[in-house]
Amino acid sequence: MGRTPWETLLRRSRPVFGYEFWECDIIYIQVVVLSSRWRGNVRKVVETKLLPYVTKPARYMGGEYNAVQKTWQPEQVKVVLAFPDVYEIGMAHLGLQILYWLINDREDALCERTYMPWTDMYQLMVQEGVPLFSLESFRPIRDFDVVGFTLQYELSYTNILHMLKLSGIPIRSKDRTDLDPLVVAGGPCAFNPEPVAEFFDVIVVGDGEEAVLDLLDLVRRAKAEGWSREQTLIEAAKIPGFYVPSFYEPVYDATGRIKSLNKHPEHGAARVQKRVVADLDQAYFPTKALVPWVEPVHDRVMIEVMRGCGRGCRFCQAGFVYRPPRERDPCLLQEQALALVRNSGYEEVALTSLSSGDYSEIASLVQSLITNLGEDRVSLSLPSLRVDSFSVGLASEIQKVRKSGLTFAMEAGTERLRKVINKQVTEEDLLAAVDAAFSAGWFSVKLYFMLGLPTETETDLAGIVDIVQKLRQLGRERLGSRVGKLRISVSVATFVPKPHTPFQFCAQDPPEVVRKKQDYLRRHLRMKGVKFSCHNLEQSLMEAVFARGDRRLSRVLERAVELGCVFDGWDEHFDYKLWARAFQDCGLDMSFYAHRVRDFAEINPWDHIDSGVSKEFFIKEYQTAIEEAHSPGCRERCLLCGVCQDLPVRMRLVRKSAKE
Ligand code: SF4
Repeated sequence: MGRTPWETLLRRSRPVFGYEFWECDIIYIQVVVLSSRWRGNVRKVVETKLLPYVTKPARYMGGEYNAVQKTWQPEQVKVVLAFPDVYEIGMAHLGLQILYWLINDREDALCERTYMPWTDMYQLMVQEGVPLFSLESFRPIRDFDVVGFTLQYELSYTNILHMLKLSGIPIRSKDRTDLDPLVVAGGPCAFNPEPVAEFFDVIVVGDGEEAVLDLLDLVRRAKAEGWSREQTLIEAAKIPGFYVPSFYEPVYDATGRIKSLNKHPEHGAARVQKRVVADLDQAYFPTKALVPWVEPVHDRVMIEVMRGCGRGCRFCQAGFVYRPPRERDPCLLQEQALALVRNSGYEEVALTSLSSGDYSEIASLVQSLITNLGEDRVSLSLPSLRVDSFSVGLASEIQKVRKSGLTFAMEAGTERLRKVINKQVTEEDLLAAVDAAFSAGWFSVKLYFMLGLPTETETDLAGIVDIVQKLRQLGRERLGSRVGKLRISVSVATFVPKPHTPFQFCAQDPPEVVRKKQDYLRRHLRMKGVKFSCHNLEQSLMEAVFARGDRRLSRVLERAVELGCVFDGWDEHFDYKLWARAFQDCGLDMSFYAHRVRDFAEINPWDHIDSGVSKEFFIKEYQTAIEEAHSPGCRERCLLCGVCQDLPVRMRLVRKSAKE
């Protein structure tokens, strides 16, 4: 039998949790009490008591053009998609839009949305006891059958906890009753779900289009047959790609490393294999788009030209976990683009993927889209391009009217280090591309680099400075009297070793080393026309800790939330001192997670999550990296990484003979 919310509360407030935890739970109590008082009346309270006093009230109003408003029926499966960042970021997320339309297309289900309220709204909601609500029906998200979070970025984890608190849903899965919704997660961070494992009932690994249909079927049966929460979790664990963390328990040795992972004797797979859509042409893709009230970070409709990237950059997690490359048919893409524009009124279409320049029919696709969309003055954008003059040619084709900046991801300053990371880009490629860009009318270029990559030396940092100097020289020669307009932006991130990559074994540079490297670049790039920026090194440290973290970090996350950590991905909110205190209070060491070289034989927290690429392949690739050797990409030669051998999927290219 499930417990009532009051029983849960009484149990949760036992003194063993300590004073500070109890104090924090006041939000939970307030929300439970007041949300029941205001059930059905949230909208009125929000409109009269909250919206007049917050910035950008339109973030919380719902009712956008194309938003789906279904009537609530008892037997429907009700899903709320929860995005742990602000509205403007969440509204630009393609995955969320796909799931929104897919679920709403089913008659037996409905889908609504909620986003993390900005801090002013959050405080007012706590103050007034208003629970987190959905934008479509203004219902508390506690009322839904499923709350689905997107695990997009490690630094949004604290926001997930805040959203659960604000909803009055117990934070930990073990504390939820049959009356609480099923709290589910998916997205790229699901490939190492352990730091957040205790907060979710189910975590879906891999492509979501088919998995979400299985989830709806599961919940529909659970509702119809009156299953308990436990029964639902048992059945969920039988579905491929569904990870139920409560059926797994890591055991640690005296050094803090994982000794073993104890799986429930009956429930859950030994390894949870990712879900993968074999044929994107058959996969669901919406031809409608929500049109937001507040300008999102990317104000455009998106078509996904391909999924996966076969290049094999050794630092790139997305490149490995979304293998193999699968391209969509160009005619289908045309239809989707036209329908999206017609149904939304947007004036820009973005061709998205991890590397859209690699799409084997990219030139003809762009040309036909320009022809078909140009009449209505709809423009195109290609957010990810290769560093070569072909890309510049393509960019000038699609940016004939307004030239936005060109971005080139070089990642490393020397040929040697680019071989280590398997980035197939040469300095000649870059110089030729920038030369073509200057000739085509561009004055500004942006360069991306990473510091702290494995085997990096001062020569590699000097290489970054050298590249920038060469580009300035090229600018002087090509731009002539217009040289005053030349702008070279250099953006430098810190290397974060990610799970499911050949560099998952590597250490991140400690902050004092990162600081020295950043200072070196700052000093040497003080040149006219050059703008240098680098990522906050402590945010990169937290990212590294949580990317490869284990289940013990859930305590740290809870403590960090108690201390006030929120919106950690936002510079103005990130407070490293609070994080340091949270780690200290929980007796855990950040360095253990971020600055330690991991043995090949060590059991990693994510080893039971199967991305398809074998650990042996990652070890081999790591060794190839140390030898500074190149590995061909999927399109050149299959290296038998494991994905196409072990999963029911193959690389799909629209032009079979396409070479990189
Ligand atoms: S099995 Fe081969 S083609 Fe498939 S993803 Fe791996 S390397 Fe690429």
